[in-house]
Amino acid sequence: MTAKDRARLAAERLKALYPAVSELDHVNPFQMLVATILSAQTTDRSVNSVTPALFARYPDAAALAHANPVEVEAMIRPTGFYHVKAKTIIGASAALVERFHGEVPTRIEDLVTLPGVGRKTANVVLGVAFGIPGFAVDTHVKRLTRRLGLTKSTDPVKIEAEVTKMLPPEEWTGFSLRLILHGRRICIARTPRCPECVLNDFCPSSTVRAKGRRRLLTATAASVRLAHGRAAARKRPRPPRPHH
Ligand code: SF4
Repeated sequence: MTAKDRARLAAERLKALYPAVSELDHVNPFQMLVATILSAQTTDRSVNSVTPALFARYPDAAALAHANPVEVEAMIRPTGFYHVKAKTIIGASAALVERFHGEVPTRIEDLVTLPGVGRKTANVVLGVAFGIPGFAVDTHVKRLTRRLGLTKSTDPVKIEAEVTKMLPPEEWTGFSLRLILHGRRICIARTPRCPECVLNDFCPSSTVRAKGRRRLLTATAASVRLAHGRAAARKRPRPPRPHH
């Protein structure tokens, strides 16, 4: 099976399992952009816990661009790195006002010029907020595409370039979002739950088959070791009993 076959099969199987959704609450592209920036190094749940109050206080880029940083920091504190994140979302909002009439641009080339917006954030915003195909490579996508043997690279830009060659554009956003969900629920970083995974029959990293093989080998090796041990024990002369 080629990497392209695995990509297509994985996309198909995951489609049957997960909706193509982001777990970040938002009602427009501006909110999606801010929520995605805030989601760095934290959980979507933590972002969702602060954004309702944040967006009620600062409903658009113009409002957030003129926000008091200390006040924003206090509101987003639970998401961690709140000092940098406050500076970034205020800066990104100011850039939107200055260069894009307060609107989130729809071209990746423009999105990545905003403070704190890399290709990952830009692709998420494009795909989720605008329905424009984008394959976002976050930590889960990076791990899963490598485990699935779709890439050997650790560079998100290369991974994006490789995987997008394997799938039609209309699959990019959904595949990325579903890999993220699968990475959170099943293909967990430390201990992937391969026995529960719908991809375990063709995933090159599946521990289901490997474990089976390992078990067989272990059992054989153990019996060989045991037999040798017994033989050695039989051959070994008994130490003489001490005389009293
Ligand atoms: S089989 Fe295991 S390693 Fe492969 S995708 Fe599923 S959980 Fe991850």
